[in-house]
Amino acid sequence: MNNIHAFLIKYAEIGVKGKNRYIFEDALIRQIKKSLEQVQGDFDVYKEMGRVYVKVLSDYDYDETVEALQRVFGIVGICPMTQVEDEGWDALVKDVVAHIKDTYQDQPLSFKVECRRARKNYPKNSMEMNADFGEILLKECPNLHVDVHHPDFILYVEIRSKINIYSKILPGLGGMPVGTAGKAMVLLSGGIDSPVAGYMVAKRGVVLEATYFHAPPYTSERAKQKVVDLAKQVAKYSGPIKLNVVNFTDIQLAIYEKCPHDELTIIMRRYMMRIAEHFAKESGCQALVTGESIGQVASQTMQSLMSTNEVCTLPVFRPLIAFDKQDIIDISEKIGTFETSILPYEDCCTIFVAKHPVTKPNLKVIRKDEEHLNEVIDDLMKQAIETTEVIICE
Ligand code: ATP
Ligand code: MG
Repeated sequence: MNNIHAFLIKYAEIGVKGKNRYIFEDALIRQIKKSLEQVQGDFDVYKEMGRVYVKVLSDYDYDETVEALQRVFGIVGICPMTQVEDEGWDALVKDVVAHIKDTYQDQPLSFKVECRRARKNYPKNSMEMNADFGEILLKECPNLHVDVHHPDFILYVEIRSKINIYSKILPGLGGMPVGTAGKAMVLLSGGIDSPVAGYMVAKRGVVLEATYFHAPPYTSERAKQKVVDLAKQVAKYSGPIKLNVVNFTDIQLAIYEKCPHDELTIIMRRYMMRIAEHFAKESGCQALVTGESIGQVASQTMQSLMSTNEVCTLPVFRPLIAFDKQDIIDISEKIGTFETSILPYEDCCTIFVAKHPVTKPNLKVIRKDEEHLNEVIDDLMKQAIETTEVIICE
C-alpha cells in the first residue's frame, strides 16, 4: 500500500456536538498525534472543513500506522486515501484508476461509485462523475464489475479544495477521544475484569488514573509488575496512567486481627474504596471505576456491592456490572490484557480470605464490626497513603 500517503479519519458521535465540536475534533487530533508518536515516520494531523486528515510526510509503515490509528478512541473509520490537487479531469482519471489498481490488483470484485462535489463549480456533477468513473473502471480493470446493491467496495471521489480518492473504510474503535470527559480512578487489580472496566470508561473519553493495593511480603514484586504491565497495555488506548501502588499489608493484618473473618473481604474492600477515593479527590477525578459484576463472587452480590458503595461519596462506575464472564474475557482478549491477567500471581484479596465469606452482609453489622478498628485505622490509613508509590504507566 505504498501508494497511500494520506488517511481520511471518520468520526461519528463527535460530529454532532454542535458548538463544542471543535473541542472534540481538537482532542481527537491530539490523541491521533500521540498514538502516531509510537510509529516510525513523520505525520501531519489536521482538520479542514469538518474533516480530520492524517498526511504522511516521510517513509512509513502502513500496517503500523493503521494499527496506531485503530487504538484511538473517537475514530469510526480510517480511509487510506490518494489525495491530489485538481489538475483537470484526465489527471483525475489516471489517479483514480491507479488507486483502484494498486488497492485491488486483479481481484475479481464488484463495485459502485459515489462521487461528491463540495465545490459546485466543478465542471461535472456527482451523477455524471459516478457514471463516467463506472464506465472507465469497467474498461480499465476487466476484473471488476458493477453491483450497486451489494458491492465489494465503493469508490469514493470527493471534490473538495483537494480531491480525495478512497475505496476502503477500515474500522476504528468508536467511542470518544480521551480528554473530552473528565477523569476517573480505576481500582486496578491483576485480574481480568478491572483492566477491561478501565478501558471501557476511557473509551468514553475519560482520562484514567489507577490505584492498586498490594500486601508485601504476602504479595510479590512480580504481582505488582503484572499490574504495571496491565496499566501499560490499557495506556496504549487511554494514554498515560498514573498508578498509585498502596501498601495495604498493615490494614489487612489489622482487619484480620480485629474483625470477624467471614467479613474480611467486605471490610477490606471498603478500605480500598476509601483510599482510592482519597487519591481520586486529590487528583480531581469525578468517579471511581471497578471491575465488579453482579454475582461473580461473594464480594459482588447486590448486598456486598451496596456495602462497598456506601463508603464513597464519588459515584462508582461499574461498566461490567451486567456482563457475563465470557463477554469480559472476549474484550480482554481483544484489547490485549488477557494473557497478562491470567498469569498466576497471588492477589492481596486471596491471601486473607475467609473459608466462608458472607454473601449478604448486613450494613449495620459491618459498620459495627469496623468499629473494632477505631483505635488504629486512622494512623494505618495515613501511613498507607503517605507511603504510596506512584508509577507512570505509558
Ligand atoms: P478483577 O479481575 O478485576 O481482579 P475479580 O473478579 O478478581 O476482578 P474482586 O477481586 O472481587 O473481583 O474485585 C472486584 C474489583 O475490586 C476489581 O475489579 C477491582 O476493581 C477491585 N480490586 C480488587 N482487588 C484489588 C486490588 N488488589 N487493587 C485494586 N483494586 C482491586
Ligand atoms: Mg481480583
